[in-house]
Amino acid sequence: MDMALKRSKNDTPRVYSAPTEKRGGPQSRPLDESGLQSMDYEKFFTDRIGDLREEGRYRVFADLERDAGNFPRAVNHRDGKINDVTVWCSNDYLGMGQNPDVLNAMKAAIDKCGAGAGGTRNIAGTNHYHVLLEEELADLHGKEAALVFGSGWTANLTALSTLGQMLPDCVILSDAYNHNSMIEGIVHSKAEKKIFKHNDPEDLERLLKEYPTDRPKLVAFESVYSMDGDIAPIKEFCDLADQYGAMTFIDEVHAVGLYGERGAGVCEREGLMDRLTVIQGTLAKAFGVVGGYIAGSKAFCDFIRSYGTGFIFSTSMPPGVAAAALESIRYLKQHNEVREKHQERAATLKSRFTEAGIPVMPSVTHIVPVLVGDAVLCKQASDVLLDQYGIYVQPINYPTVARGTERLRFTPTPLHTDADMDHLVSAMKEVWVKLGLKSAA
Ligand SMILES: *Cc1c(COP(=O)(O)O)cnc(C)c1O
Repeated sequence: MDMALKRSKNDTPRVYSAPTEKRGGPQSRPLDESGLQSMDYEKFFTDRIGDLREEGRYRVFADLERDAGNFPRAVNHRDGKINDVTVWCSNDYLGMGQNPDVLNAMKAAIDKCGAGAGGTRNIAGTNHYHVLLEEELADLHGKEAALVFGSGWTANLTALSTLGQMLPDCVILSDAYNHNSMIEGIVHSKAEKKIFKHNDPEDLERLLKEYPTDRPKLVAFESVYSMDGDIAPIKEFCDLADQYGAMTFIDEVHAVGLYGERGAGVCEREGLMDRLTVIQGTLAKAFGVVGGYIAGSKAFCDFIRSYGTGFIFSTSMPPGVAAAALESIRYLKQHNEVREKHQERAATLKSRFTEAGIPVMPSVTHIVPVLVGDAVLCKQASDVLLDQYGIYVQPINYPTVARGTERLRFTPTPLHTDADMDHLVSAMKEVWVKLGLKSAA
């Protein structure tokens, strides 16, 4: 009999079968007199993974070797074979991760200062590059100060959890589509939390009205939402925050480097930087390196520096990373034409998909989401594109997006050529037919 048929329905394929003599395996699990046996931990892990597989949303990482100087090309390792692929879903939105000036800055800092920072910021780990980077970020956002973290995720978690814990009786008003890092920070703070409808000032006002004027309030939202490519009504949110005496906290992770004359984000483009109490960003996406930050007043940054445990107790980023990020920010401040080209590429891809009947979801930004609407089909489309066309675009499934809105999320960069787009569009047309996917209405 075929192995696949012999398997019972609940016997999902195992990722890793634990050697039974290991701790936690059946033989080593103690049994007491009343017949109670200790938990089979390995089985628990394997079963939970099985749940994901059954739903078609078990994550498989593309094993890539990026090819410096040849962006957006990479080598993909898969099933013991290697293939050249074009990457269509990177958050290195401008290819700055391979910008020669950035690489030279990184190499020079490594030669000068070595590999690691050598400590937390407070204990031997503040390198001069960190200081320069924070000055540069404060200047970029028109704020008095900035504070750098190991990642954007940590910056959100630390800043929001510290604010929510320390502001007396604070209530946090959070957009329904906020990123996991903001949600974790808010939950961790244990402050009262209210969720307002995504990008909806009316709903935010309804909630703000519920609280007395003197109660501390914090409104937390993003500028660009990375899965839909829509933008928050920032001015309306700031007006409401002013009216009801709330602080504002914006995540500009998918906008820094990409919008505004100097690349400070959507708040810069809309002349609103001074309206936000806190601007949070990343050095890992458009800036092409790694790390996160917050920018705000001197007192605010000093407060998080002094009380934020995710800042205090973690080793600071390597000097080479800080130097590379610094160079990337400086470069993008002076090269608005990179942003213009980026917007042109995104607009071109959207219109080419639309002409081809591919269901592009509405997006007012550089993000080009294409609706599939089913987790299994979304993964299949991605697999076929990779295997047969050398196109890498990761399927985006629940919980990153709502069930039923599974999608392929394309992020064209200034370095994707017309020829790349020709190949992509014709491949997508074929895949849509092959898998019987829904076309644009
Ligand atoms: C990626 C992301 C973060 C986290 O930033 P990292 O620097 O990658 O840790 C925070 N917020 C949003 C909206 C993001 O998409």
